[in-house]
Amino acid sequence: TPTVGVLALQGGVREHVRLLEGLGARVVQLRTPSDLVGPDGPRVDGVVLPGGESSTIDRLLRMVGLAEPLGAVVREGLPCLGTCAGLVLLARRIVDPAPGQQSLGLLDVTVRRNAFGPQVASAEVTLETSLGPARVAFIRAPRVEVVGPGVDVIARHGGVAGVRRGRITGIAFHPELTGEPLFHRRLLADIADRVRESAAREA
Ligand code: GLN
Repeated sequence: TPTVGVLALQGGVREHVRLLEGLGARVVQLRTPSDLVGPDGPRVDGVVLPGGESSTIDRLLRMVGLAEPLGAVVREGLPCLGTCAGLVLLARRIVDPAPGQQSLGLLDVTVRRNAFGPQVASAEVTLETSLGPARVAFIRAPRVEVVGPGVDVIARHGGVAGVRRGRITGIAFHPELTGEPLFHRRLLADIADRVRESAAREA
């Protein structure tokens, strides 16, 4: 059974947990560095960065000392899914950061926060994505404004709304609020692929 760590400092954690457990994963909520990494390496097989307020999550990440180890495990290849504020955290550049706001810089994209206007501009839509049709919710969503080399666009909605490079997926919207399993399934498939690869390397 794959174990997925869901970053649980702020934001919409519960819906991700429910969706992942529904897909058969074990879920660990990540609040401290030792939730993520033990003496023998990562304690999880993949991570989810949920939506919420990206500047708050960023501040808390650095406050609890999770920013550095989280960046390290994903750079080393741990599959990762970031939704909404999670996409902002993954981005290398933020056009309009909150004062002092940083990001993990794990995906070579530039994002604009709250690019679709205020809360009232939120909407539930069906998107054609490169993973298939997806029923999702946009809530004060960021937009990807620059896509770096080697990063694939996987969804559009008034601009680029989903990107992927290697086993890192960033989406501007919320599949967990509608119960859309496509992206979490992809994460679990990425985890299975990685486990298979390392088994083959050791054989
Ligand atoms: N606008 C928020 C931010 O930049 C993201 C909103 C969300 O995650 N639903 O953090």
